[in-house]
Parts: sequence; C-alpha cells; structure tokens
Amino acid sequence: MPELPEVETVCRALAPHLTGLTITDVVTRVSSLRLPVDSERLTAVCVNRSISGIRRRGKYLALELAGDATVVLHLGMTGMLRICPATDAVLPHDRVLWGLSDGRSWRLADTRKFSCVLPFERCDPGQDIGPLANLGIEPLDHGFDGAYLHAECRGRMRPVKNLIMDQTVVVGVGNIYASEVLFRAGIHPRRAGGRLSRRRCEALAAEIRSVLTEAIDWGGTTIINFRAPDGSEGLFRQQLRVYGRENEPCLRCAGHARIRRIVLGGRSTYYCPRCQR
Ligand SMILES: [Zn+2]
Repeated sequence: MPELPEVETVCRALAPHLTGLTITDVVTRVSSLRLPVDSERLTAVCVNRSISGIRRRGKYLALELAGDATVVLHLGMTGMLRICPATDAVLPHDRVLWGLSDGRSWRLADTRKFSCVLPFERCDPGQDIGPLANLGIEPLDHGFDGAYLHAECRGRMRPVKNLIMDQTVVVGVGNIYASEVLFRAGIHPRRAGGRLSRRRCEALAAEIRSVLTEAIDWGGTTIINFRAPDGSEGLFRQQLRVYGRENEPCLRCAGHARIRRIVLGGRSTYYCPRCQR
C-alpha cells in the first residue's frame, strides 16, 4: 500500500507533466472503485478545464483545476498512475483515463479496485474537501513539532504507537515507519501517550520528520514511468533498523538485546527492550 512518502514521490513526479495542461476528455471504465465513480460529474468537473496543480494531503492526491474544481484521488492498495501517449493500448486494469491537451493520456490502473476518484466543484484553492477535511496535521508542515504532539498526547492512555498512526492526529505515519520512528527516538511503542514528557515528544516529532523525509528522498529514486513503487516503502526498506528484525541483535546497543515483535492495534510492531523505554 502506498504510504505518504510514495504518494509524495508520485505527486512530485506528476506535477511538472500535468500542470498547465487542459483535460480534453475523461473515459471511465468502471462504475465503482472503493467508492462509486460518478463519471458524469467527473467529466463535468474535468473536461475543458486546465490543471493548476497537483498536491498531496496525507495519502491523498488533490488535482486542482481552473474554476475552483478539485479531483481527490487515493491509490488504495494497488492503484498506479502513469502518463503515456494517447495512442497506447488501454490495458485491462486501466480504470480512468484523462486525455491531455499535449496529446498524452493520464491513466489510473488498479487491479484490486481499492482506489478512489472523487470530483468536487467550487472548492477554495488549497481547501481540504471531502475525505481530506478530517485529516490531522501534515508531519512536514511547520505546525508539527514537539509542542503539538505533547498537546495531542496529553491525558491519553493509548499506546504512543497507535497515537502517531492515528490520521486525525498526524497523517502519513504508516505501520513500518511507526516502528522505525519509535526505535530512533528510544520510546517503547506501548508507552501511554500521556506519559511522554515534552522533551521526548520533541525527539519523537523530529524523528517522524526525518524518517519521512529520508523515505521521500529514497522514494524519489524508485519512480519509473510515474508508478508508485511496488511494495510499501521502496528502497527505504534497505534503511530499516528495527522493522522485520525479530530476534536479531539490536543495531543500537550492539547486541546487548534482541529485537522483539509484539502486535499493537492488530499490526506487527518491533522494538528493542533495552533501548526503548
Ligand atoms: Zn537496543
């Protein structure tokens, strides 16, 4: 499943190819993805409108069009976006095809149909509409820091790992990244959020930013034909220090302890019992 870094990578790769072009037509080859696709509305929102930009919000993409229209996209588990000549054969899993004024075609392919395509008319530029409206803060924005995290965690007994994965608190910290971030910050994944000091929240916020930034940098090297990297974390997988290393010696305390695996919120969680408190 594409995570924040992969979606950011896709967004950065697409932006220079889409911005400034006009959408000439839309072909919808499916009635429903994760949600129904309203092809009439999608056509009305897109056709003859120029693309003013594309931005990422959480794991969503927002295609911003002239006339204050927006198309919100989510890639689900297996959605892939590509730009190709309009004359290229349509593939069996191509679900939505946008014709572009430069003679190319922008296509959403999705084998498992968990992606979504939601057209909206009359939105303020940069406004969070539809599924974007309930999302928490962006971890790479200025407002995200130790003070913010400390305020969000205050009084809460939920494990810190579950809190940082809660999309209403902060977006984009997926399961693998959560283990990595807590390992680097030296925080036990089960520790109650409300029992973290301001200083430790600052360390945690800094690690969230640095892990996601590193993953975006790595993701930027894996993009081929504007497809999201296959698998969840691209080349960043080679940088993982704790995730997937059950019973292996901890890389931080030089083998004084072995990495443990527990299940939190139904997801595999890895940590060092000696380094993380
Ligand atoms: Zn250790």
